[in-house]
Amino acid sequence: TDSLTSSFSLLPSNTAKLTPTNISPALQKIREALISSDVNVNVADQLLDRVKDRAIGEKVKGSVTGEQYFTKLFYDELVTLMGGSPTSTDDDEKGLGNDSLEGGSIAYPKKKGEVTVVVMAGLQGAGKTTFTAKLGRYLQEVEVDKEQVEGMGKEELEGTLRTRLPRRMRKVLVAPADVHRPAAAEQLRVMCSRASVDVYTPTDSESTSAVAIAKGSVQAAKEGGYDTVLIDTAGRQTVNEGLMEELREVNKAVKPDEVLLVVDAMTGQEAADTTKAFDSAVGLTGAVLTKTDGDSKGGAAVSIKAVSGKEVKFVGTGEGVKDIDAFFPKRMASRILGMGDVISLVEKASAEVTDAEAMQMADKMKDATFDFSDFMKQSRLVSKMGSFAGVAKMIPGMAGKIDDKMLRTAEDRLKKSEAMIESMTRQEKANPDLLITDRSARSRLERIAKGSGNEFQDAMGFVGEFQKMKTMMSRMQKQMAGEGMDEEEA
Ligand code: GDP
Ligand code: MG
Repeated sequence: TDSLTSSFSLLPSNTAKLTPTNISPALQKIREALISSDVNVNVADQLLDRVKDRAIGEKVKGSVTGEQYFTKLFYDELVTLMGGSPTSTDDDEKGLGNDSLEGGSIAYPKKKGEVTVVVMAGLQGAGKTTFTAKLGRYLQEVEVDKEQVEGMGKEELEGTLRTRLPRRMRKVLVAPADVHRPAAAEQLRVMCSRASVDVYTPTDSESTSAVAIAKGSVQAAKEGGYDTVLIDTAGRQTVNEGLMEELREVNKAVKPDEVLLVVDAMTGQEAADTTKAFDSAVGLTGAVLTKTDGDSKGGAAVSIKAVSGKEVKFVGTGEGVKDIDAFFPKRMASRILGMGDVISLVEKASAEVTDAEAMQMADKMKDATFDFSDFMKQSRLVSKMGSFAGVAKMIPGMAGKIDDKMLRTAEDRLKKSEAMIESMTRQEKANPDLLITDRSARSRLERIAKGSGNEFQDAMGFVGEFQKMKTMMSRMQKQMAGEGMDEEEA
């Protein structure tokens, strides 16, 4: 990636417009860099064409250089190419409270009592057995931030996690359906015991048939209260018909919700072709890229989606059972391009929006026409930037001085306030007086409190604070505008 980012410096730094001529030397070098890091040639060309189309003729704005602008376009296209969306939030990516997750999502049982079936496919040595144990552990366990859950009782903790991470915390059963390698089942048992994941024990009559083991384990899962079955299958050294036939039979027998291709990142360009071959032979729902901790050059991650149409869902980052990561196109693209550049650009871009919004907001504050919808917008802006804590830590000199607990309390209160605003009618949001001086204020507040799961006192407290804040902001804005103190206040 060194030579990739260094090729960006060939871009014009001070011209107002990007033209085919002034970006051509950079494109040439970028192409070479992509191909030498194992990106498929066609994919590299496709990527560059898209970036070129968007770049040419665009006026580069004010403080942004041609190089920065191009990097941003390149980043966007790279994310899209890998199946992501450059505008998705971090929460979308983590799958928090969102159904259409990017990265890491495994189909979830639709009804209680149903079982999700996942079949692992792949060549020998790709990492299927290792990944089966890793995924089992990943789907069962959730790592929590200790401070965040401090003081929560067991029930409250589970409730919180279930709403935030409903797709984890499963009960997983693993099926040892590699009947070709003598030691395969034993290897799986060792890995799964390290991962605290249960493994199905086939009956004697099942033990020589992958199909029978797969079927037996799904049945056992239904009876034993499991919600997810992961089937580890046999691999072959090359893509061949015998391997595909066995997989097709297993699939026919258990009708899996997911068929994941486990593919070794070290195979470089081949990884994408292997994914395509398996997809046409047995049908896949996604891919898993293993051994990304080795000295693979990263090109596989870029090419798989574009060549096979299948998204990478997870990456393996080592031999241990914890070495698994959900695949995030945005994170991968940032890594390829070098974090710094992209982050500063994205910051710049969002700062421009915020400036305009902030001006408008300041006017509203000054005229005291700031209402609940504006409050919500401001609050959302904060969460868009991450969190109070995250933002505060970026302020020079603040790190280490701020009290995490206090910030978290502030965040919780903000969330509570948002819930109350969501329970307001449109009129109430636009006209805070309805909740303060109007005759119907009390019954309105009672309704809002109930609708948002709060006490009447909470609603009254919030509205009171809102009113105070509004007065204070208005005063501050007027002072800053040099108008001095409001007569009322004097
Ligand atoms: P299978 O034949 O597809 O089941 O592959 P295995 O799960 O047996 O893995 C083959 C080898 O690759 C083993 O030595 C694993 O420890 C190793 N391996 C699997 N995944 C990873 C990974 O993400 N990183 C590294 N460094 N090694 C891995
Ligand atoms: Mg294996």
